[in-house]
Amino acid sequence: MTDVELIILGCGNSAGVPAITNYWGKCDPDNPKNRRMRPSVLLKTKTTSLIVDTGPDFKEQFNRENLQDIDAVLYTHIHSDHTMGIDELRTLHRRNKRTYPVYANRETLGELMECFSHMFEESKSGFYKVVCEPHEVQNDQALAIGDITVRLFEQDHGAIKSLGLRIGDIGYSTDMKHLGEKAFEALSGIKIWIADAAGNDQAANPVHASVGEVIEMNKRIGAESVYLTHLPPSMDYETLEKELPEGFHMAWDGLCLKTAIK
Ligand SMILES: [Zn+2]
Repeated sequence: MTDVELIILGCGNSAGVPAITNYWGKCDPDNPKNRRMRPSVLLKTKTTSLIVDTGPDFKEQFNRENLQDIDAVLYTHIHSDHTMGIDELRTLHRRNKRTYPVYANRETLGELMECFSHMFEESKSGFYKVVCEPHEVQNDQALAIGDITVRLFEQDHGAIKSLGLRIGDIGYSTDMKHLGEKAFEALSGIKIWIADAAGNDQAANPVHASVGEVIEMNKRIGAESVYLTHLPPSMDYETLEKELPEGFHMAWDGLCLKTAIK
């Protein structure tokens, strides 16, 4: 068995909380759990560190965890709140004198290599060096990086698809509106589910699940603990924590959950 820690680096929505202009919405600025960076998690064992998504807050998140290096990055989808911090890998490349394996499905990898070509190819002038090594993953494979094995599954994120992850008995479903049969199958038997509830009380949100929809999905998944993530400024920690049904919680940045992989 390998012990794995999953650390929530960011549980905020695409704008973060507070959003630019110090906009806190309904969130109490005095509660530190309401300060949320853009969505990302770190998976860590004694020997391996895997970052899931590098949003605009990647540098701050990396520094907050006092990391020096990582083994790889996995991208759930191309949206900018999950990718715009990729350039920070350039500083890591200079400091640690190595390249970084980047894992994503065909669509995401293709767009990453187009949007951030300077990370994947040396520029003609030689100024930009190769920092990222592209690795294509299938939407339903088991991915092994060092001693971490992650089972991937596809999620419906409205206009596009995203990847969900299962690590031991933890499921991570950021940026999803609905789950299909294969996703339910992959999550079967998990104890902890981290789920996108950015829709808050709006079931009409076209790309993010609402709290009600997450509750409904978990009737089938049956996780004992559900942590809501991708949280917008309309979702105050204390208010929602009191209203949520038993077993449901608001995530917060820095939350560390533990599991083991066989
Ligand atoms: Zn997002």
